[in-house]
Amino acid sequence: MTTRIPAPQGIASCKIPARILMGPGPSDMHPRVVAALGKPAIGHLDPAFVQMMEEIKVLLRYAFQTGNSLSFAVSGPGSVGMETCFVNLVEPGDKVVVCRNGVFGGRMIENVQRFGGTAVVVEDTWGEPVDPQKVADALKAHPDAKALAFVHAETSTGAQSDAAALVGLARERGCLSIVDAVTSLGGTPVLTDEWAADAIYSGSQKCLSCVPGLAPITFSERAVACVRTRRQKVPSWFMDLGLVLEYWSAPGGKRTYHHTAPVNSLYALHESLVMLRDEGLENAWARHRLHHRALKAGFDALGLRFVVREEARLPQLNAVHVPTGIDEAAVRKQLLERYQLEIGAGLGPLAGKVWRFGLMGYSARAENVNLCLGALADVLSGQGIQADKGAALAAAQAVYTGNQA
Ligand SMILES: *Cc1c(COP(=O)(O)O)cnc(C)c1O
Repeated sequence: MTTRIPAPQGIASCKIPARILMGPGPSDMHPRVVAALGKPAIGHLDPAFVQMMEEIKVLLRYAFQTGNSLSFAVSGPGSVGMETCFVNLVEPGDKVVVCRNGVFGGRMIENVQRFGGTAVVVEDTWGEPVDPQKVADALKAHPDAKALAFVHAETSTGAQSDAAALVGLARERGCLSIVDAVTSLGGTPVLTDEWAADAIYSGSQKCLSCVPGLAPITFSERAVACVRTRRQKVPSWFMDLGLVLEYWSAPGGKRTYHHTAPVNSLYALHESLVMLRDEGLENAWARHRLHHRALKAGFDALGLRFVVREEARLPQLNAVHVPTGIDEAAVRKQLLERYQLEIGAGLGPLAGKVWRFGLMGYSARAENVNLCLGALADVLSGQGIQADKGAALAAAQAVYTGNQA
């Protein structure tokens, strides 16, 4: 007689609290995106679904500002988008200049090394943007480098690097460029063709405010040619672009099964991209800036200091120093328990020292800014800090009325 595992008791359908997401992602999903997610599944080769996939490609070209035909959504989180770029473009023995000014640059180094490449690391202090001069020097010292990789919007610190300048340096040296735009896409300009970038990946759950688990990517013709002329097979079956594209863009509509697409998640991505198109990229960028300015005005009134200097600050990720004497984890816990508000903690060398406030996609709106400033002022006051809630809210309001006039 076999012994069966008994059915677990005491577990019911999950109850999800209504949270307000102002951390480093995921961001609040718009009700229209949630509704799209709840539509019935259809087959992943159904003509109606295939039509929707074609529209996603067109909408992504708009979001990425590119004519690249290879623009689609990888089935997987932003990390799979990252890995798809590196596994297809890096071969054993390749040298890649990788910039590290936060967590995600570190992951790029890991990717290069795991696929047999050598990473030449350009280091910048966390909270600083990537220094183009250091990159120029590294490219000069390593004329055999195949690619330059950097993070456009470093979510771990809130710093934005000058992608146009960095991609330009790579091009001057005949290098490919691999750009992490997970947190920038939809929040600050990602200008693929204007920069002449080669491979860019993003994520669905940050400024696109979509369900987590999809990674929009785009590859230039140069990057595609590089994949086509590889010496060795791509070591990942799932992420091999040659195989995936038999499903996403087979010529003559002869799509074949590769993997079952996350059908419902793609409905949601389609809806979030339609919403971005309707709002207009420039308006979306301006909205992120506006709410950032209001939040910043409130933070100034509360005496909070930003980690990143003003010129390099991301509107969608606001990292501030935790005031001395404050229990940073207790503040986050109270915000979550009393106000249903999620904010982010610091990572790596910034752990325990900073808070990260996201204003991404649908989370970037006035009611969130006001809720956040009021809740934070209350919680800080409870910890014995002089936090003038009225002044913080008035400062944010002044930004809004100034803009509305
Ligand atoms: C969130 C993030 C990622 C990883 O995305 P996941 O969806 O969590 O895998 C990569 N790079 C940056 C800059 C990010 O902010």
